Amino acid sequence: MSGETFDVIIVGAGVLGVATAYYLQKNSPEKKILLVERTLAAGQANTAMSAAAVRNMFASSTNQLLADTSLNYFEHVQEKLGYDLLFEKTGYLWLLSEEQFNQDTVKVWMERMKKSKIRYKVYKKEELKKMIPSLNMDFAGDPEAELMNLQEVSFGLFGEDCGVLDATRLVEYYFEEFTKISNVKPRFGVEVEKILLDADPTLDLPGEPYAWQKKKANGVITDKGTIIADVVVLATGAWANQLLDPIGIDSMTKGKKRQIFVLHAEDKKELEKLLDTKGFNEIGCIPFTILPSAGVFFRPQLQERGFWTGCGDKVGREYKYIQTDEDMVPESSYYENSIYPVLSKFFPAFQGARPVNSWAGGYCYSPDRIPFVYFECGVLVVNGASGSGIMKADAMARIADALYRGEPEAELFGGTKIPSNTLSIKDRDVEVESVVL
Ligand SMILES: Cc1cc2nc3c(=O)[nH]c(=O)nc-3n(C[C@H](O)[C@H](O)[C@H](O)COP(=O)(O)OP(=O)(O)OC[C@H]3O[C@@H](n4cnc5c(N)ncnc54)[C@H](O)[C@@H]3O)c2cc1C
Repeated sequence: MSGETFDVIIVGAGVLGVATAYYLQKNSPEKKILLVERTLAAGQANTAMSAAAVRNMFASSTNQLLADTSLNYFEHVQEKLGYDLLFEKTGYLWLLSEEQFNQDTVKVWMERMKKSKIRYKVYKKEELKKMIPSLNMDFAGDPEAELMNLQEVSFGLFGEDCGVLDATRLVEYYFEEFTKISNVKPRFGVEVEKILLDADPTLDLPGEPYAWQKKKANGVITDKGTIIADVVVLATGAWANQLLDPIGIDSMTKGKKRQIFVLHAEDKKELEKLLDTKGFNEIGCIPFTILPSAGVFFRPQLQERGFWTGCGDKVGREYKYIQTDEDMVPESSYYENSIYPVLSKFFPAFQGARPVNSWAGGYCYSPDRIPFVYFECGVLVVNGASGSGIMKADAMARIADALYRGEPEAELFGGTKIPSNTLSIKDRDVEVESVVL
């Protein structure tokens, strides 16, 4: 395939790569767009490792908009287009201590949600006690709880339009829509080794590009040969630095390992009861729940009759490139020592619960926890989703498409417009996100 020429090559077929491929092709049907991926199918890397929970409950207006419009689109796909994403509005329940609830950041978070018309409710301690009788809200006289810095629950902040979906189904949806309209077959098992950077315009001199020349990517070198393209879309998530560093573009993103552990509720009466908690949503199940301490959370997994649990710990775990398969190996000790003690203190129903499955993947963090979508020297970068790329995928892909077409504004689902350079590095116009898991 050496020397083949395309208008666009999209590197990476995770949810961001396939959604971008779809919008680019839809709005530029005449363009030859090639999607390449090193694994053997779309959505096999971090997209498949996600908890696939989706929320519009962010503190920054930008993340609110990206997630809210994406969630509305997912609902549209499921309800109006009839494509089942297994999107279930379980809601998100943040359990907060009195001190946390009264923090300025939480006040700003609620104010901004109100302004953006994002629906949420506040539950007081007594209401929560009635709704979730098995929630332990009183640690008085418990030395272990004190040792573990556990904070008592006083409030619940609940987002009713949030929920969970199936990330694989979402990827399949965008992939199928893309391949229906594309005239180029996507290629799997192709590893991009290098982005080709040339002088713009080239003078055909040896050793170009020189420092004084403008530079532009004009293709990639892969393990199967060279591919020439007018634009290179980089949607390689936690691996962005591997291709950007060598050409001197600072992605400003860092990787961090995150893990999910699966717990089954079947035949465990107390866990079944917790899973089937009524009153929060129409499904009659416990919402995606975030504990007030240590960043521990769990989501209901209704098809498996169980829970997925994880932890968004802040300090202690290293930032690093996600490079080897080892970086993706879950650690049972992390569940045993960090997650389980907290989980079972707040919810004694989890006592004795051991994972039946687990996996790990990499978050791609930006410094302000807002995604990046920008053009730099012919490379269109779509990354930095900071652990929430499923829930923002639709909006990020629409912005990438607007940038590709040179549109000053991107129209998100539902008609809201956003300047196309909002998520760029140079013209970034965003608030720092404080609600990160
Ligand atoms: C444990 C965990 C839980 C998460 N939970 C959630 C959640 O609940 N909700 C949510 O919204 N988000 C969640 N996320 C984050 C979410 O998974 C990511 O934000 C999202 O998948 C990013 O999509 P992507 O397309 O950039 O990444 P990826 O799915 O990683 O796609 C990048 C693709 O690029 C390919 N690639 C990389 N380098 C090359 C190369 N050189 N050549 C060819 N191909 C290459 C990879 O193989 C991969 O398929 C979670 C992530 C993890 C790890």
